[in-house]
Amino acid sequence: MSTEQKKLKVFKFGGASINTVERIKNVGHIISHWKGTPLMVIISAMGKTTNELEKVAEAFFAGRQQEALQLFEGVKKPHIETVKELLQTDFEKCMAHLSDIITEAEWMLHDKPVRDYDYYYDQIVCLGEMLSTIIVGAYLNESGIETQWLDVRDIIRTDDNFRDANVDWSNTKQAVANLQFTICNSSVTLTQGFVGATDENESTTLGREGSDYTAAIFANMLDAESMTIWKDVESVMNADPKLFADAVPIAELNYEEVIEMAYYGAQVIHPKTIKPLYQKSIPLYVKCFLDPKLPGTEIHNNVVKNLPPIIVRKENQVLIHFHSKDYSFVGERSVGQLYHLFEGLSLRPSLTQNGAITFLCCVDDLEDKIQKLAFSASAFFEIQIEKGLTLLTVRHYKEALVETLIAGNEIVLKQQEGKKTVQILLRN
Ligand code: ASP
Ligand code: MG
Repeated sequence: MSTEQKKLKVFKFGGASINTVERIKNVGHIISHWKGTPLMVIISAMGKTTNELEKVAEAFFAGRQQEALQLFEGVKKPHIETVKELLQTDFEKCMAHLSDIITEAEWMLHDKPVRDYDYYYDQIVCLGEMLSTIIVGAYLNESGIETQWLDVRDIIRTDDNFRDANVDWSNTKQAVANLQFTICNSSVTLTQGFVGATDENESTTLGREGSDYTAAIFANMLDAESMTIWKDVESVMNADPKLFADAVPIAELNYEEVIEMAYYGAQVIHPKTIKPLYQKSIPLYVKCFLDPKLPGTEIHNNVVKNLPPIIVRKENQVLIHFHSKDYSFVGERSVGQLYHLFEGLSLRPSLTQNGAITFLCCVDDLEDKIQKLAFSASAFFEIQIEKGLTLLTVRHYKEALVETLIAGNEIVLKQQEGKKTVQILLRN
């Protein structure tokens, strides 16, 4: 009698789920629960490692070599301490693997920067995921969960748009297809989120918090049965519980709802995650690693009725006024030119408004990109920039709720789409 083979699931564990020895053990515990189901596991960097590596990259690029090396020591130390505490039999092997990665990084840090900042950023920042997966992989193997560790830079092929690299779907698909059989026939395959590589083998990253996206790429290409993101919250909430005391959990959502929430700044799931899942109708579960018995949130493609209002606040917004210099209308041509500039800088407006001779646009406060944009656009526009604004987005809103949310703030700009979504840019 043939037993039907279980279909592959994709799990993603974020930085908070592996930031202590206890939590790494907990990940092992969760994984062991799915014995018999092939798992593709995507892992982020431990805790706040990515932020710390960003500081290494900044110091290195600014020519502060000693500081960069010292900061890098600060990244190495907790990783090595974790290995000492976590591993017994496989300690030496794991340390040797970590050393390969660390030595390579230190060579680079001893050099002088000759290329762009974004290039070095990616070579340095990707190390967080390399280190974390080596450690977690070694622990899983030592604790009897057979795990194959893969370097994602051999799989996810991207362009060289460092820090926000675009995935080359056809080459990546080929690489995944070559591994499909082994992945589907292994108990656990573990690799790094957030990281990719160019065809010249230079490391790239997919944008901050990009591990969710990596997991979705694998889920799509491996035709996974489902994808699960393990987080430290009980489920997706209708608002950030740190800002709204009466935030409530949401049991079910659809892709569209999540993509809108993420796009407007909810810190739930990386906004690029949904499309690859949608393309293959793969359900996404958000579950709590602290208590896996909690139901969490299921995200799928069906209609979900009776949703509570969903509230997203995005701070540090910048409003850019583009004002026609000579009273010529701001029409298709000039708006087209502006969008061309946005695209070139990978700047994503979260709100825009077009008038006869003005164009308003709200973006995240990315200082150097805004400067570049202003410089290029100043050829045909007068430009004014206002910083420190907050963008409030409410879906399925009720007027009374919106009133209380904006109380005490001045409205700079307001847009609404029927009863579905209202967006208000606020000056506090
Ligand atoms: N470690 C990366 C970051 O902190 C990627 C991720 O967490 O998804 O942005
Ligand atoms: Mg993270």
